[in-house]
Amino acid sequence: MTLISSRRNLLAIIAVLAISAGLAMLGADSASAKSEGKTIAVTGVTSVNGQSVVVHIIAAVNAGKSDQEVADAALRGVNARGLTASEYSLLANSWDQFSDGDAGNDFVVQRYNAKDEPSGARAAIDRSRATWNAADSAFAFQTAMASTGKCPSLVNECKGRQSFDGNNDIAWMPLRDQNTLGVTWSGTSTDEADVAFNTNFSWSNDKPASATDIETVALHEFGHVAGIGHSEVFGSIMEPIYAGIRRTLTDDDISALQAWYGTGGGTTPTPTPDPDPEPTATPEPTPVPGTELHIGNADYGNNDGVTYSLSGKKGRDLIITILVTDGNSAVSGASVSIETDNTDTGWSGTGSGTTNSDGELRFRIRNANSGNWSTTVLSASAGSLTCDSDCPDGPHTYVK
Ligand SMILES: [Zn+2]
Repeated sequence: MTLISSRRNLLAIIAVLAISAGLAMLGADSASAKSEGKTIAVTGVTSVNGQSVVVHIIAAVNAGKSDQEVADAALRGVNARGLTASEYSLLANSWDQFSDGDAGNDFVVQRYNAKDEPSGARAAIDRSRATWNAADSAFAFQTAMASTGKCPSLVNECKGRQSFDGNNDIAWMPLRDQNTLGVTWSGTSTDEADVAFNTNFSWSNDKPASATDIETVALHEFGHVAGIGHSEVFGSIMEPIYAGIRRTLTDDDISALQAWYGTGGGTTPTPTPDPDPEPTATPEPTPVPGTELHIGNADYGNNDGVTYSLSGKKGRDLIITILVTDGNSAVSGASVSIETDNTDTGWSGTGSGTTNSDGELRFRIRNANSGNWSTTVLSASAGSLTCDSDCPDGPHTYVK
């Protein structure tokens, strides 16, 4: 059983706009938090062993500091640059094992290092994992969390070179940036997510909280582990602020999870074997070896190449699916880059990634505005295969 499948489903971030380092990611609602104990969220990107890694940071804004100063320092602490809004929205950041057709590996294994943990931390973290698992979605953390003495390999405060070691570790440690409460490091081309909580802060397991609530911060960070970005919905777990205890997922959080992983986790029926197979069944089409990549393929029921769907309770998420084929065969590992525009609002974003074993690559725009959307495949390649005359492909439009 494959516990951690390779997350080929991921990107290299193209746009290079380090303008307001991280502040582009700050929700407008962050200003509504009390000045005392105000906390902001910062998202950046850096690289480990040449691979892109997204870093989500929760940082406290102390008196006399601006949000920008705190965001800049938090990003410096992890050697990252800020991620722009369009880059963030077009991350193709989900775990592949939930879409590989094998229900036996549909969970994410996490490991826990109890060294220096505050009182009650393990129980609070277990509850936050259980909260995500209880949401109606195929996504799940493995119920049991293994104990380990390891320092999370992607976290830069650990000794030695940062690396992907195939484990999703959680640990408590003093973090370099004095304002950072917690941080999630998430690989973009490799399935791995490590979480660290800063022991330089006071933490609480009490209700009402006597310090920063462990379960609240863990619930938010594990949403990032699942592949969910920030939300502008007030009161949601994925709102980029800490404003006291929040231990319950909102409809917005759940719909974000469902946008990636669908509903009905754990209820996947086992196909019943046909006792009397039809002897004249139509044979599978013989794969035709080709020399050029196609974007979309009628043989795979996707002549259009780019699929838009709005999912989630309020219909704000726009999912863009790219299928790459060679003749009749899906091509995994193809590098694809796209541009998506809302021609009504002028929003524009670019993203890139690698197709999964089904030849698919999905992108998501969180809280997508209504309007006229257009997506163009800018390039696609896989080994010596290159685009045919229909590729680059587009534009494909969607009107909402
Ligand atoms: Zn966050």
